[in-house]
Amino acid sequence: MSNQKKKRSGTVSNSPLPLAIVAIFGAAAGLTFIVAEHSPRATKSGIENSVPIVEAELSSETTTEVTATTAESTESTTLTTVSETTESKPLPPGSVTGIKLSFTDAALKVGDDPVMPLVTMTPAEADDKSEKWESTDEKVAKVDNLGNITAVGAGSCIVRVTSVNNPAVFAEVKVSVVDPNKTVTAKTKTADGTTTASQTGGNTETTTAANTAAENTRADMQVIDGITYFDGVMIVNKTYTLPQSYNPGGMTADTRAAFAELQEAAKADGLTITSVSDFRSYETQDTLYHNYVARDGQAAADTFSARAGHSEHQTGMAIDCNWAGDAFNTTPEAKWLAENAWKYGFIVRYPQDKEAITGFKYESWHIRYLGKEWAKKIYDSGLCLEEYFHIDSKYAE
Ligand SMILES: [Zn+2]
Repeated sequence: MSNQKKKRSGTVSNSPLPLAIVAIFGAAAGLTFIVAEHSPRATKSGIENSVPIVEAELSSETTTEVTATTAESTESTTLTTVSETTESKPLPPGSVTGIKLSFTDAALKVGDDPVMPLVTMTPAEADDKSEKWESTDEKVAKVDNLGNITAVGAGSCIVRVTSVNNPAVFAEVKVSVVDPNKTVTAKTKTADGTTTASQTGGNTETTTAANTAAENTRADMQVIDGITYFDGVMIVNKTYTLPQSYNPGGMTADTRAAFAELQEAAKADGLTITSVSDFRSYETQDTLYHNYVARDGQAAADTFSARAGHSEHQTGMAIDCNWAGDAFNTTPEAKWLAENAWKYGFIVRYPQDKEAITGFKYESWHIRYLGKEWAKKIYDSGLCLEEYFHIDSKYAE
């Protein structure tokens, strides 16, 4: 491995050239180009920033103690304000004023894995983004306190998420469920359900974003030392490979630093995120993949394990967090990663319902380092990398 290669990989998202391309592409795509880096501790600093505002409204003898109680009184004031009058009093600083969901329709089948819409509460600096989830009909679909929606029986219902901080603010998912075991009772709905079932999450927002992106030509592709970059972003998937010789020797320095920052932020939110697998060499991946093939057959192995040279883990920029298995999908840590990893420069690389596009099944635990600017763009777009860059992920044969 030459130094040049290593340098290229380590600085891809920070070097001036790709950034210039980013700016051009961003402008062409009609996307907001973030000039200033997003604060790595957005939520936290938001809280800190809001304190002086609150203090300013209080008497001049404000002390640390007062600050501590401010949060409580703010919360109860919000509740009172909202339940009594919806308009007269302005909401206290730090209040939640809006909720956006990553999808608002879900067509499910009984027996399907749960689906979980990603929640974005606004403003970003709101103090308390706690969510309250409920279903209008638990015989149709249940929802847990993280927003995991599970189909129970045929029918339709509404799953609602409400801001605990400001209960006047809520968002809803229209859920329709078919029960494949009871085709008779759900005759008409089956036709509907089956056509849309595979598109759960192929929601309005995603479609809009996809359409916007589709107006643009494919991203600018460069191949340097056998490594493919789109708009300066290194891409490794079923179509684009890394050379066998490519070996950064571990997590890249940028990835390592960003991951430490992510872990720190998760810890502040009471969660522990660890790496259970990050860098894997070409040779390690080759062994791993062939073990899976021997155990599960090639067709199955190809859905969850990359062939050597096709694994993002070889980049040194991919991390499997906590538990690399489906049991992780419904955990608070998975939810936290899905909603916050972008702030630290990572994306959940293989999202739910994008299997056909990424080429890999949903992996709530696998995050990929892109740098903060790119991670925010991808997160905001609601697209996976392949959609964003208009590229494939398919093995040649
Ligand atoms: Zn992984």
